[in-house]
Amino acid sequence: MSTYHAPLPEMQFVLNDLAGLAQVAKLPGYEDAAPDTVTAILEEAAKFATNVLDPLNVPGDREGAQWLPGGAVKTPAGFKDAYDQYCANGWNGLTKNPEYGGQGLPQLVATAVEEMWHAANLAFDLCPLLTQGAIEAIELRGTPALKDKFLPKMVAGTWTGTMNLTEPQAGSDLAAVRTRAVPQGDGTYKLFGQKIFITFGEHDYTENIVHLVLARTPDAPEGVKGISLFVVPKFIVNDDGSLGARNDVHCVSLEHKLGIHASPTAVLAYGDHGGAVGYLVGEENRGLEYMFIMMNLARFSVGLEGVGISDRAYQRAVAYARDRVQGKPIGLEKGAKGGAIIEHPDIRRMLMTMRAYTEATRAVAYVTAAALDNAASNPDETARAKYQAFADFMIPIVKGWSTEVAQEVTSLGLQVHGGMGFIEETGAAQHVRDARIITIYEGTTGIQANDFIGRKTARDAGAVARHVAAEIDKVAAKLAARTEPALQAIGVQLAAATADLQAAVDWMVPAYGREPRAAHAGAVAYLKLWGLAVGGWQMGRAALICADRLAAGEGDAAFQHAKIATARYYADALLPQVSALAHTVIHGGESALALAAEAF
Ligand SMILES: Cc1cc2nc3c(=O)[nH]c(=O)nc-3n(C[C@H](O)[C@H](O)[C@H](O)COP(=O)(O)OP(=O)(O)OC[C@H]3O[C@@H](n4cnc5c(N)ncnc54)[C@H](O)[C@@H]3O)c2cc1C
Repeated sequence: MSTYHAPLPEMQFVLNDLAGLAQVAKLPGYEDAAPDTVTAILEEAAKFATNVLDPLNVPGDREGAQWLPGGAVKTPAGFKDAYDQYCANGWNGLTKNPEYGGQGLPQLVATAVEEMWHAANLAFDLCPLLTQGAIEAIELRGTPALKDKFLPKMVAGTWTGTMNLTEPQAGSDLAAVRTRAVPQGDGTYKLFGQKIFITFGEHDYTENIVHLVLARTPDAPEGVKGISLFVVPKFIVNDDGSLGARNDVHCVSLEHKLGIHASPTAVLAYGDHGGAVGYLVGEENRGLEYMFIMMNLARFSVGLEGVGISDRAYQRAVAYARDRVQGKPIGLEKGAKGGAIIEHPDIRRMLMTMRAYTEATRAVAYVTAAALDNAASNPDETARAKYQAFADFMIPIVKGWSTEVAQEVTSLGLQVHGGMGFIEETGAAQHVRDARIITIYEGTTGIQANDFIGRKTARDAGAVARHVAAEIDKVAAKLAARTEPALQAIGVQLAAATADLQAAVDWMVPAYGREPRAAHAGAVAYLKLWGLAVGGWQMGRAALICADRLAAGEGDAAFQHAKIATARYYADALLPQVSALAHTVIHGGESALALAAEAF
């Protein structure tokens, strides 16, 4: 059996050397993120992930969350206890506002910590993840009374939060939301309707659950401009903070799913017994706008799920490959010790692919987290705007690309196990099943790609895209100018990828207006192409830093050699896909649409 161990040296390298933790720690409000403190936080988180969350992952999958007659939900054995420990250790409030009991740490630090939770136990972490979204919504636009009533308990984790967007007819298209919110004349509303697929919509962790619900008021305009956001607690909260009456929101069933079995996915009925009391967040009809502001972070977190689960699948595959003996590995010197499948070249290819993708997606996510921190807290207004534009550009990549990569990585992890991978005992199959949802919730890959070609590329005529491409090109030039053959090779591939990337941008910007259907048919290819290229950018930067340290005789030489080797593999084996994808973007869209719908 494999045990999860957080890759602390790698995480520290990415945090410090690629994402610039020292710079982030100087931003106003983040002074507590000193290197020693961050090291201590990461070590504690790693222990919690290894000792508490990881051992619950497989049993949680087998037992699953259960719906009980009457509408209660029982989470698998050990999960509530783990949640209590999680809150007691203060993990729930890591980035939250100190005014409400949080620790106010930067997103960058939380990103490394969150990666560990995702890796060790994805189903467990969904509850805190959704609570974060709900906290953010209330903090962003709630009245002072709403904030005082709900935020301290939610930041402490005493109450959890949910996000209620989806309805049977309203998934990707939230304009179709039908849940009704009727004003009661006393400042409150009564909600009626049904929400589906609500993560941790009911559970036995806490006494209260705070639902954030999208609904329409009676005179609301049609479509996206008529949706409002409401807080609907499971139990009404009295003015003194004590719990009052049971509210009219009930879990009528749980979904039966392919994966994340320990995470209850609830169907919630609102208002079957007279109406669920709700409190408006912000102004009427602006709910979707608030949701979009919050979605940045939620989408980022789901992208990070891709990084975590990829790393977990990689660790499990390495452990198995070292242990399983099968066949005589080809080409080993006579008398060399061998026999474990890790010596087979094809197994090495798979492990190297898993490793390279995981390191690249991690670097891209952490660099984006540092941009989010700068966008929030950099004292220079121009710098804030610049970082915000970069983060906005990167988030669909983090969400869309890292989650798609996780499909390949977890699938390779299963393949490394051979037939045993298909058998549940090894745990490799669970990663494939659990990972499958992450390209779907918080906006499918198709929806991320639409956003990426539209709001993130065409809207500014490709300005940010071209700026990022130029930054990649600078790194390619630095690599190509080096004397070390490995670095030169990475530089050549990165320069080629940048040229293809630029060609794709040059095509996409006018095509978005001129031939929108073809542009949209190529959108996912365009998003993946960008993911591969920014992954190559960060791997190239990592290789340069490691080569400099090797030359200076500083730091851990084994780590540096491994990083350069992994970056080179990424450049030689994965980055060339950019060229094929650029062709798909430019020429594939029209062909994708060649058949009429009736012809399928
Ligand atoms: C386990 C699980 C947990 C979830 N948790 C939550 C939660 O906590 N809260 C919540 O509100 N929701 C939640 N969801 C719902 C989730 O966000 C939606 O399933 C998702 O947004 C997709 O919507 P849909 O399922 O209706 O698919 P659809 O919107 O019907 O999409 C079907 C297909 O059509 C494509 N498509 C649709 N529109 C477009 C378009 N404009 N352009 C291109 N392609 C398009 C999609 O990409 C997809 O491939 C959860 C879902 C699951 C399965």
